Amino acid sequence: MLDLHIHSFFSPDSSSKIEDIIQNARHLDLKIIGIADHYDLEERIPYAYRVKNIDEYFKSIDFYSKNTDEIIFLKGLEVGIQSTVDGFEDDRFDYFIYSVHGLPGVEDMSGEIIVENYEKFYEEYFDEMLKALEKFNQAGFLGHLDYPRRYLKGKPEVPESLYRKLNDIFTLLKEKNIGIEINTSNMDRIFFDTLPSYKLIKEYVKATGGKLITIGSDAHSAERVGKFSYKVAEMLKELRVKTVYYCKNGEYQEFMI
Ligand SMILES: [Zn+2]
Ligand SMILES: [Zn+2]
Repeated sequence: MLDLHIHSFFSPDSSSKIEDIIQNARHLDLKIIGIADHYDLEERIPYAYRVKNIDEYFKSIDFYSKNTDEIIFLKGLEVGIQSTVDGFEDDRFDYFIYSVHGLPGVEDMSGEIIVENYEKFYEEYFDEMLKALEKFNQAGFLGHLDYPRRYLKGKPEVPESLYRKLNDIFTLLKEKNIGIEINTSNMDRIFFDTLPSYKLIKEYVKATGGKLITIGSDAHSAERVGKFSYKVAEMLKELRVKTVYYCKNGEYQEFMI
């Protein structure tokens, strides 16, 4: 099994040692893991997280990728994308997780967000995602598609009225040959679902046949690495998806589940 969205101590909001991450991955018999620390491109937002020194970060994970036996250790980066920044490329990395962590002009997405109309909030978020994604082309996976659910009061799902817009996102991903992540960080807490939600995964599979899906724990502590990867694989199999994907040197590789 695999987990492509793991944070290490290079992210300001994680303290996991890479050795502990590898040890936990071995314990769960994961075959492939990817470190993807934060690199928010929009520095003006107050909650922007980014690795301090990208070269030092790269060197460090490159060392582990060359010296880790049994497990395929990948060099990733969670690139925080916005419509307000330029594109970003760095082909030293195996892949990116592309994540939209905010809306232009909205200061923070943390704590609990109370809005009058959550449908409008999601719509603005997806519009921002569409605009931001246009600028990026390197191989990777769209992170936590319905991210506002973590923060919106009442944890509402994306309403069906926005499924057409989601299909625009799926079409754009297909055009750009960028995959999608199933983020498991909330499967045991707050709203007990994946990101995208199970309903949205079904929409994605319906629209694309289950193209280029990966699984990510978004673990900010070593013990959460790969925690729900097997469960998601079972869920995907029920939807007749038989393979998930990872990227090595920017090339997509199949992994049978
Ligand atoms: Zn994220
Ligand atoms: Zn993350």
